[in-house]
Amino acid sequence: MARRLSGGRLVVASHNAGKVREINALIGPFGFEAVSAQSLDLPEPEETGKTFLANAEIKAVSAATASGLPSLADDSGLAVDVLNGEPGIYSARWAGPSKNFSFAMKDVRRAIEKTGADPVGQTARFICALCLCWPDGHCEAFEGQVEGTLTFPQRGERGFGYDPIFMPLGHNITFGEMDPNSKHAMSHRASAFSQLVENCFGEPDSA
Ligand code: IMP
Repeated sequence: MARRLSGGRLVVASHNAGKVREINALIGPFGFEAVSAQSLDLPEPEETGKTFLANAEIKAVSAATASGLPSLADDSGLAVDVLNGEPGIYSARWAGPSKNFSFAMKDVRRAIEKTGADPVGQTARFICALCLCWPDGHCEAFEGQVEGTLTFPQRGERGFGYDPIFMPLGHNITFGEMDPNSKHAMSHRASAFSQLVENCFGEPDSA
C-alpha cells in the first residue's frame, strides 16, 4: 500500500513558476500548500534519467533531501511512436534555449518525414510522471498518459508546448483548439494527479 500524506507544506520541485502555480491549484483543495524549490533556493539537479519516472524521482528526491519536507516533482513530454518515443524526455530541449515550440513542432514533422512516413495521423501520446518523496527517501510514483494522433500544420492558440499538433483519441480538434477545462479533464497530467490523490493524499478510509 502507498504511503499517505495529509496536508501541510509540500515542496514543488520545479523552478518553473507556471508549473508551481498549476500544481498549487491542484493540491490546494487537499489541504496542501505548495512551496517552490526556487523560494527555498534549492539546487536544480541534472535530469540524467532515461525515463520520465526516473527524472521525476531525481528532482523529488533532491528537493526532499535538501529541504527536509515532502516534495513533489513531475516530468512530462510527447512520445511519437514512429520516432521510437522521441522527443520524449527531451521534449523541452527540442524547443531550444529560446523555448520555441513552433520550431520544435516543425522538427517533429521533419523527423517523421525523414522516416518516409506521413506525419499526419501518426500515433503519439503525452506522458506525465509524478513522484512524491519524503525526506527519509521513500517515494511514490505515478504515470498518466493520453493517446492521440498528430496533425500538421499546427492548429489552435490555446494550451502550450506541442498542444497545436496533438489530437486526443476520439476528438477531431487539437489540444491547442480545445477548451482548457476539457483538456485538463482528460490530460496525462490529470491522470497522474488523480492516481496520486487516490493513493497518497489524506488518511486511508477505515473499513
Ligand atoms: P518538463 O517541464 O521537463 O516536464 O517538460 C515538459 C515538456 O513537454 C514541455 O516543455 C512541453 O514541451 C511538453 N509537454 C508536456 N506536457 C504538455 C502538454 O500538456 N501539452 C503540450 N506540451 C506538453
